[in-house]
Amino acid sequence: MIVSYKYRAYPDAITEGRLNTALDTCRWLYNKLLEECHTAQENGSTPTMRGTQARIVTLKDENPALKDVYSKVLQMVNYTLWSNIRALSQTKKNGRKIGKLRFKSASRYRTLNYNQSGFKIDSEQSTIAFSKIGTIPFSMHRPYVGTVKGILITRSGDNWYVILQAEQGVSEPKKEGRSVGIDVGLTSFVVDSDGTAIENPRFFEQSQRKIKKFQRSVARKKRFSKNWMKATAKLEKAYDHITNQRRDFLHKLSRRYVDGYATICVEDLNIKYLKENGKSTGLRRNIHDASWGRFLAFLSYKAESAGTEFIRVDPRDTTQMCSNCGSIVKKTLADRVHNCPYCGFVADRDYNAAVNIHRVGMEQPLEPVERIPLHHISVMQVLSMKQEAPPFRAG
Ligand SMILES: [Zn+2]
Repeated sequence: MIVSYKYRAYPDAITEGRLNTALDTCRWLYNKLLEECHTAQENGSTPTMRGTQARIVTLKDENPALKDVYSKVLQMVNYTLWSNIRALSQTKKNGRKIGKLRFKSASRYRTLNYNQSGFKIDSEQSTIAFSKIGTIPFSMHRPYVGTVKGILITRSGDNWYVILQAEQGVSEPKKEGRSVGIDVGLTSFVVDSDGTAIENPRFFEQSQRKIKKFQRSVARKKRFSKNWMKATAKLEKAYDHITNQRRDFLHKLSRRYVDGYATICVEDLNIKYLKENGKSTGLRRNIHDASWGRFLAFLSYKAESAGTEFIRVDPRDTTQMCSNCGSIVKKTLADRVHNCPYCGFVADRDYNAAVNIHRVGMEQPLEPVERIPLHHISVMQVLSMKQEAPPFRAG
């Protein structure tokens, strides 16, 4: 089964120039091949897909720009042309009166088709390197699942999108072992159903004084002067440091869960965001959400290549429900403790939620919950976990 995932893409100016040039070249090829098909028909011969395919090679002398487009992409232009020709002749067979296939104008030719090869996805950096185009960052708001068989790059007005076509249903054999539910913590980064609480990293907050200092230093300098460049470089280095620390933290933490469990249950972020839409969010909340989204992306792809099952559950009532007796115990964001008036169960609110997430994900019935104190793991402890080997990713 092929499933498409569409993401916004952000090519820089140079890459965008190459994309537009490649689109122009592909459109030229499309129209050229179509024109030659028309001419061939008028002369009484029957053009073939294989014939136009072979023609691409000789056309490269006529239009050297073709050499700047990845060869598979050119092949897909021919493929698209022929699916349009077939679709048209099918419509004619069905008795509709229709003219010839039309030439494409620039506004109607907007997609480059990378099929099977010519691209390399970096899930961690959220970038794709395209042969003959360059590296394009994209926003993976929702991680894709499966093996990517092809990527479309498409322009819509001023915006660019990548559409990943992923084949699903093929993955590593599932491993046996323990399962866990993980909840986004309010004070902790995550709390899981085994009672582990991971400290919330505050890399940004911790480095804020340093960053403010560098920012002031940049502001005092004359723009584009030598000293301004130096100060800017320092500021960028400080930002990079935060980014690297955070990535390192997320990698090691996700590795810990994927190595330790056969099944991981989390809340479905998409549903959660839909439901919480419109509620106030602060800067810290945004940073935290971004980290959490990335953590899930890391978990999801690491799980897939390790044969760990990754289950997303509907977040409805996971916080409010008592994990011990199933009663709804209303709480606000300020309530740190779940205190059930019906059965007397008292627990950290996030631990209670994690147990619910685990139970829903594993489709287990309610049963008495073990009353355990939370086991705290610090950011430093996570960072000192062993460095993982780079994961193997096909595609
Ligand atoms: Zn209860």
